[in-house]
Amino acid sequence: MSEPIEWLADGTPYSPRFGDRYRSESGGLSQAREVFLKGCGLPAAWASQPQWCILETGFGLGLNFLVTWATWKADPMRPRLLHFVSTEAFPASADDVLRSVRNHPELMALAQELQRQLWGLLPGVHRLTFEGGLVLLTLCLGDAKAMLREQPFQADSVYLDGFSPERNPDIWDLHTLKAVARCCRRGTRVATWTVARSVRDALAQCGFVVKKVPGLPPKRDNLRGSFDPAWEPKKTPPSPGHRTPGHCVVIGAGLAGAAVAASLARRGWQVVVLDAAAAPAAGASGLPGGVMAPHVSPDDSLFSRLSRSGVRATLQQAETLLQAGSDWSCTGVLEHCMKHIRARPAAWQQGDAKAAHDWTHPANAEQLAQAGLPPETLALWHVRAGWIKPAALVRAWLATPGVQWRGQAAVSRWVRQGSAWQVLDAAGQELARAELLVLAAGYASRALARGAGQHLALQAVRGQVSWAWHEPGITDALPPFPVNGHGGLIPALPLAGGTNPLAWMAGSSFERDNASAETQPGDAQHNLDRLRTLLPEAAGQLADQFERGKVNAWAGVRCATPSHLPALGPLEPDLWLCSGMGSRGLTFAALCAELLAARLHAEPLPLAQRLADALLPQYTAPAPEVWP
Ligand SMILES: Cc1cc2nc3c(=O)[nH]c(=O)nc-3n(C[C@H](O)[C@H](O)[C@H](O)COP(=O)(O)OP(=O)(O)OC[C@H]3O[C@@H](n4cnc5c(N)ncnc54)[C@H](O)[C@@H]3O)c2cc1C
Repeated sequence: MSEPIEWLADGTPYSPRFGDRYRSESGGLSQAREVFLKGCGLPAAWASQPQWCILETGFGLGLNFLVTWATWKADPMRPRLLHFVSTEAFPASADDVLRSVRNHPELMALAQELQRQLWGLLPGVHRLTFEGGLVLLTLCLGDAKAMLREQPFQADSVYLDGFSPERNPDIWDLHTLKAVARCCRRGTRVATWTVARSVRDALAQCGFVVKKVPGLPPKRDNLRGSFDPAWEPKKTPPSPGHRTPGHCVVIGAGLAGAAVAASLARRGWQVVVLDAAAAPAAGASGLPGGVMAPHVSPDDSLFSRLSRSGVRATLQQAETLLQAGSDWSCTGVLEHCMKHIRARPAAWQQGDAKAAHDWTHPANAEQLAQAGLPPETLALWHVRAGWIKPAALVRAWLATPGVQWRGQAAVSRWVRQGSAWQVLDAAGQELARAELLVLAAGYASRALARGAGQHLALQAVRGQVSWAWHEPGITDALPPFPVNGHGGLIPALPLAGGTNPLAWMAGSSFERDNASAETQPGDAQHNLDRLRTLLPEAAGQLADQFERGKVNAWAGVRCATPSHLPALGPLEPDLWLCSGMGSRGLTFAALCAELLAARLHAEPLPLAQRLADALLPQYTAPAPEVWP
């Protein structure tokens, strides 16, 4: 449940839980500007930096974030990328966040953008994206100490906020401040409005050097300082740490490679994407249309949590880059549970019910009727889900400034030349060179890596879909949204080239250890049989088109891993793998690309570290001990 908030007569938000106001008597706006931004030397300190990272304890109603974002937006010397990481144990509702800026009309437009993304905020780490991916808000919902331990980044500025130390001592205690210090480098500036003795002592114990400065009335003093411990702080961020954007070669122009290229280019990298084919998205990402929906499990498994982070990441990209209705549509997806209802985590029925409802809930009678299923059918309704044309997303990512795509460039191997990778074709001719190389060639990554002595645990899984143009009367006879659960159906996909602009798509087959993308006639019957179980009414409508041979086929090769999770991590210094997207490239590619960029730059991760670590590449033979 969202945190209950009361509103004082002057419009100030007030917390009944802590018996304290969310904002100082001097007004939230001046507190954000004077105490936090100015207290951390901003905006001057971030001038012309490639990135800047701010850590805040206590997101509250998001005012400090909004003011910082507005300052970044108005500053011609702003850093290219702004990271804002904020912890919050008791998140307010999106509506209250918006309501809290009604006295500050200059922030209203930004607050509305923020409000639109404040949905489905279950406990954990959430990455919200603004300004085309240049302002990144990482919300860590839960106990600040525990959440910060899950984030291996270095902050440049720290805003210590929260209710007063008497009302909410936890957020100011030594353990929380130690967790904050872990995220600091020598010189990280810190600012807060409290000068409580206990806070000053704890800060000093953690290595901060702070001093009182004149405060905003009615407060006499504020606190400012920096992280400058008398001891050498442990290096917490993983190597290689911050690096300046340079040149990168990505092998493979599918969802994985194009997403990586876009994420790096947004950070200032010059990226060349090489592909063996003549056009982008020629591999599995050439699928005419795919479904994107979160995974649900009773224990909210790692895969389920990862799928939600991935869906959120893709939705943000689709909303900014794609044409709704023709490239994608967030229709919602019905999951028909064939044997038994897929149980949802117990917490989703209790405290987390509202946030969970934003994601997935039992399908209602109307949705079942629209799918032609009886009312007692066991089914889930995924709210933030729909269909996407993968090739449209690939093309949009490749169009990011700083990305250059080159077709008919089949990579055979690579060699180190000083500090750069030289990428060669089969004749030994150089195709490209750069200091960073990313292998994102789907299942072909396995053979390419083997040439470099790496035995990756990647498996080919061939699949075929059946699709056809809508014939008269079909559009209204099919469900108005995709259905999955036993194969799947995308009922209305706008494709080019037909007399009728809409096509339906059903499938797909799933054949392990087959790396052939040839279509097979037998797969059409297999897809029809599965559709008969999944959606008997729809199958009845479409069977005739199958029988008359009016159904087309498309086949491709998925790349799967033993863990079913994507494979993302370094194989050698400056050689990264981004592959193993399995049947969920639309869910995982955008997230993996942001994770790769974050790890490379020692930025805040878009998800908890434990989830990120689970994606490290797996091997069938021991990995060479060559990278730190
Ligand atoms: C039948 C089927 C149905 C699917 N349905 C869905 C779905 O509904 N939802 C979903 O999310 N996902 C779905 N998927 C999975 C999804 O298509 C993949 O996860 C995703 O496309 C993988 O993207 P990728 O970039 O890793 O690989 P690919 O798209 O295969 O890209 C790899 C690229 O590398 C290039 N390449 C290979 N070797 C070389 C080389 N030596 N040099 C240069 N370039 C090279 C290839 O030409 C290719 O363009 C489906 C897949 C199939 C086959």
